[in-house]
Parts: sequence; C-alpha cells; structure tokens
Amino acid sequence: MRTFAAYGAEKNRRSGRDPSPTRFCYQQGGLVIPLAEAQENVLARCSVLEPAVVGIGEARGLVTTGTVTAPEPVPHFDNTAMDGFAVRSVDVVDAPVALTIVGTVAAGPVPDITVGAGQAARIMTGAAIPPGSDAVIMVELTEVGSDGTRVTVTRPVPAGNHIRRAGEDLVVGQTVFGPGEVLTPGHLGVLTSLGIYQVRVRPRARVGVMSTGSELIEGPQALEVGQIRDSNRHTLLALLAEAGCEPVDLGCLADDEDEIAAGIGAGVEACDALLTSGGVSMGDYDYVKKVLDEIGDMTWMQVAIKPAKPLAFGLVKGVPVFGLPGNPVSSMVSFELFARPGLRRMMGHPPDAWHRRPVTGRAAEPLRRRADGKTHFARVRVEYAGGEYLARSAGGQGSHQLSAMAAADALAVLPDGDGLDGGDPVELLILR
Ligand code: AMP
Ligand code: MG
Repeated sequence: MRTFAAYGAEKNRRSGRDPSPTRFCYQQGGLVIPLAEAQENVLARCSVLEPAVVGIGEARGLVTTGTVTAPEPVPHFDNTAMDGFAVRSVDVVDAPVALTIVGTVAAGPVPDITVGAGQAARIMTGAAIPPGSDAVIMVELTEVGSDGTRVTVTRPVPAGNHIRRAGEDLVVGQTVFGPGEVLTPGHLGVLTSLGIYQVRVRPRARVGVMSTGSELIEGPQALEVGQIRDSNRHTLLALLAEAGCEPVDLGCLADDEDEIAAGIGAGVEACDALLTSGGVSMGDYDYVKKVLDEIGDMTWMQVAIKPAKPLAFGLVKGVPVFGLPGNPVSSMVSFELFARPGLRRMMGHPPDAWHRRPVTGRAAEPLRRRADGKTHFARVRVEYAGGEYLARSAGGQGSHQLSAMAAADALAVLPDGDGLDGGDPVELLILR
C-alpha cells in the first residue's frame, strides 16, 4: 500500500516542490490534497482499453481507433430529390409545354424506360434518373391531362434540376472519419449507408459494482432498527450505464473480510474496472480498505472536497478499483469527479472530454457554506432563464440526503469561504 503521505512525498521529490500549505494542508486523518491532484493521480492509472471490433448495434458512444474510408459512393446513383416528372431540359425551355408520359419510375427497380424528345416519365423521390432525361420537375409545377397520357410542364427547368448526383455526399476512398471520433447516431447512419456494420473502437468498459455493509438489505421487506436498504449499488449501476459503460452487478457483501476478498478477486478477473461502495473509512469493520491494502497497489486519498473526501483508488491485478465512500451522496459525487473521468479515459475519450465542462451560471439565491479548507459541491437545481443558468439549492446538503442529489441538475462548485450571495456568478457542473 502507498499512503497518500508517501505518494505526496514521492511526487514532491520528483517535481522538486515543497508541499506548500496552499497545495497540501494537514487535517485530522492525514494529508489532504486538492481535487485536481487527486484526479490527476486517478487518471494517470486508468489505462486506455485495447481496441476491439464491435457491431454497429453496440457502437453508440464508443470512440473509433482507425480511419474509416468510403468503400462506395453515397448516393450510389443519380436519383431524384422530388416526386414529379423526369424530362429533357431542352424540351421545356419554352414552357408551358405538353409532353407525352412514357411510364413511371419508382424508387427501387432499375428504370426500364428511356425518355425521348417530347416525352416525360413520372418519377418518385429516390428513384434512379431514367436514361434520356437530365432534369426533374416537381409534380406541383405540372398538370396531367384528363386522359392521363400527357403532362403540361408549366415552367422551364435547368439541366440537373432536383437531381442528387452519385457521390455527392461521399466519394469512394474518401475519409469518412478518423480515429478518436465519438460515434453518435449520425455516425452510425453514415457507416450503415456505406454497408459498414462492424467498427474498430475502444470497447465499452465492463465495470463491476459491489456494495459492502452488514447493515444493507435488498428488497422491500420491513427494516429492523440498524438496517438500511442498499441504494448505492443501483445508483452506481445506473450511473455507469449513463456514462456508456457496461455495468456488472457484483451484489451486496457483508462486512466480512473473506467474502470481500473473494468478491474483489472475482470482480477484477471479470471486469475492466471495479467500483466498491462503503468500508473505506476508519471504522472497525471497514474491510474493503483492509482487503485492498493487502491485494492492491492502492493510494488512499483525503481530497479537499465536500462531500466525498475519502477516496481509495488503485490497481488490483492491473484493474482500476475505485473504493467509493458509503454515504450515498458521497458515492455519487465521487463517481462523478473520479470514476467517470477515469472510465472515459479508458474508453478512449480525449482529455478535454474526461471531465464535465463547467459552465458559469448565477446563484439565484444565497448558496451558503462554512469555511473549512475544502471546495464544496452543492446539489442545485438549474433553470435556464434570460439567457443564463440560474442555480438554487436542490434541498438538504447532507451526504446522506440523497433526495437533493436526485433532484439536482448540477453540482455548484463553491470555493472555500462562506459561500455565495444571490446574484453571484457560480461554476456549474451540469449533470443532465
Ligand atoms: P461506510 O463508508 O461503510 O462507513 O458507510 C457510510 C454510510 O453510508 C453509513 O451510514 C452506511 O450505512 C451508508 N451506506 C453504506 N453503503 C451503502 C449503500 N450501499 N447504500 C446506502 N447507504 C450505504
Ligand atoms: Mg460500512
């Protein structure tokens, strides 16, 4: 195990820096480090996953690792953008003019008609342009005679009118997208429009979630005094899904050293990363801390933030393990500030997309706090009004008060001090 004191000393030795009081402050329980430092420590040890080929149905949100080039043109053939008539533009120069209807071209079949001088073919959007014609006139600018054999074209149209040319979107060999592209629904549409159904990407991280605590109960049965329901596991599984990972439910374990050791051991075999909840504080039954100390290369951090001050992070058999605090709000905030960025890094997102991009809003009411040397992440509701984001408290700010976290649209970053007055600018991490 590396304590943070050791980690900090080692780091300072390497950088030739003094642990100045602005960067490190001593608090009960050891060295407290700034958030950015803790995040740097976590991110440095979350290695990018090896690329894999996945089917298009699995690829949304994943990041490409190679260059995709177009194997065929899009559109594949000249076709009409409108329902109307395919004509020879020279025939309609003196419109209005009546032409003989020689047939109909639908979307799908190869056209079996040729449009000759004085002729027109009915044509439907997406249908191939029949030989002989060089323009399409929209149906609204035509009148079909009562016997259905002749059409009057009311206006002249230039050659190429309403024709979508082959290769107008993509030509053969063109780079469609390069490495590092996050695959959106639009990208998946482009790939399938080219007949590409497999794509090389950084895979979705498989992330195991295990809650620990002998007080935890799963299910609707009545609680005895002392028992609580396991909510963290379900929250974390959902946060993982939202972050584009593949969540793996590793269950709820008692505060039992052997059980926890077996659970973590099995978890790191099956997953790319692990989240544990609870058991990493200073209590007598905090066996997660003890087990991770024995089997992992862990760094124990006290981060100058509230909530989510304690963080255990390290590698077990090379697999990143995030030992998140048990308090429900702390575990969510810790996920947000450490696990989500680390997992995004593993899945190949670029550095500027690891963290949420902060936006500056305004406090719509006083957002008070106590000076304690830490940055506070207040749970706030955000309204967009008058061209700016206005933040109000989402409710009780205790680390056990999950309902305000559930109601929050954002975390408001409150620097050390006594908080903000109504009207003050505030940095917001928008969660949804
Ligand atoms: P711990 O980190 O194990 O000391 O737990 C801190 C607090 O969080 C205690 O009040 C626990 O009962 C509570 N807690 C721990 N795990 C969970 C969980 N999975 N769901 C809800 N609350 C939890
Ligand atoms: Mg516990």
